[in-house]
Amino acid sequence: MIDLTIVDALKKLKSREISATELTRAHLNRIEKFGAELNCYITVTPERALADAAAADERYANGTPRVLDGIPIAMKDLFATRGIRTTAASRMLENFIPEYESTISQKYIDAGTVLLGKANLDEFAMGTFSKTSYFGAPVSPWQRTRKLTAGGSSGGTTSAVAGGLAMGGTGTDTGGSIRFPASITGLVGVKPTYGLCSRWGCVAFASSLDTPGPIARTVDDAALLLSIMAGHDDKDSTSAPNQNFHVSGELEPILGTGKKLRVGIIKEFQNVEISPDMKRIFDARINDLKSNGAEIVQVSIPNILDALAAYYIIAPAEASSNLARYDGMRYGLRVDGDDLIDTYKKTRAAGFGDEVKRRMIIGTAVLSSESYDVYFMQAARVRRLIANAFARAFEQCDLIVCPAGAGTAMPLDSDLSPLEYYALDLFTVAMNLAGVPAVSTPAGMAENGLPLGMQVVGRRFDDLRVLQLAKHIQQFSGVDNRPTKIMGE
Ligand code: GLN
Repeated sequence: MIDLTIVDALKKLKSREISATELTRAHLNRIEKFGAELNCYITVTPERALADAAAADERYANGTPRVLDGIPIAMKDLFATRGIRTTAASRMLENFIPEYESTISQKYIDAGTVLLGKANLDEFAMGTFSKTSYFGAPVSPWQRTRKLTAGGSSGGTTSAVAGGLAMGGTGTDTGGSIRFPASITGLVGVKPTYGLCSRWGCVAFASSLDTPGPIARTVDDAALLLSIMAGHDDKDSTSAPNQNFHVSGELEPILGTGKKLRVGIIKEFQNVEISPDMKRIFDARINDLKSNGAEIVQVSIPNILDALAAYYIIAPAEASSNLARYDGMRYGLRVDGDDLIDTYKKTRAAGFGDEVKRRMIIGTAVLSSESYDVYFMQAARVRRLIANAFARAFEQCDLIVCPAGAGTAMPLDSDLSPLEYYALDLFTVAMNLAGVPAVSTPAGMAENGLPLGMQVVGRRFDDLRVLQLAKHIQQFSGVDNRPTKIMGE
């Protein structure tokens, strides 16, 4: 039952071949068996899961099922869940129990999904290997000997979904946190167009970049999850009006339909060093696209290699402002000091980890009056140039493909400097700066037996076609991501 896709499970639930309770129990058993090893959940919610499943079974029995009734999922522990601890993987929020439900998690409830638990992540979603989590890093299920990263910041969700400890789940992508972890765990990770999915009730990192999205094993599953997540929300002022995303079944092919499809490859990325495996796989998938009728064109995003520098100014600047709210007064940790200022200092010193502190220091520095024009404004200009360049590129092509990362999952104990971690975001951050939709989809297997992903990028609100092309690439890839294949029964 663990290997079922969401699409197939829904069919079996509808025909009453399986029940939501059985499906949920199978996943809870798997969590019992592998949860500690993978460290993918910060909080497991078995009672809630079984209650959700029983309610779903009742609706199936009544003939009134909801769209994703009975599908067990993992919720990144950045989405506030009413009555369930929501930590952002930080000591600051270690014991924070929200009194409200985020819009995204509410939509999952409304769709009938079963909440298995809150998935691990980098502290406040700042990181690339989920190693900045106060609760320790989640692990990739792909290798049981030397522990590999499941990526970050949504690494708890990718670890859970790849290992069969959830059928799908949520992530957030500020600079690559859905796509990068998906790419190294053989999964599909969707960063939708900015504004398509509400950020309300999601712990803020960098508000102009933060993008909630789904993670699943197949593109069709991811599209179903995106369907329930998308839509305008009055409570989020940056939520796009009059935009939605809806699929009711499996995605239609976009190749071989007789209609022309121009697929762009980014000139500036071609000189970036990637692993020989990634290069071989990327070229093979391009050939597949060509032989299936796509026209490949070269496009230019002149400033794309400056995206990293711009991102690591803008994201920390916004983070420094967003995280100012953790002052020990309203919620979260409080360490009493001699006076108010001392309490602030002691609370923030104890509550935040090193990476979060580093971001707040960088952010405060680039927003200071001496640095604002040279750093922050300059980064904002680069951002505008990149967004404009994407818009121009999409006059020459319909969709763009590029790598999602340079190579396969690295060992968790790799000793990288902060700058080396930041550099891993090279292929992903530009899409956040431009607000365009981007999906990482399995693209092939490397020589070392680990999966590699690649991205499909589209015009703003062209999320559907992005997913349609991603589905073809997943089909060409030959990546078998069934959890029992990856880590056994
Ligand atoms: N790795 C990036 C960072 O550390 C992206 C994080 C994210 O998308 N949340 O900021």
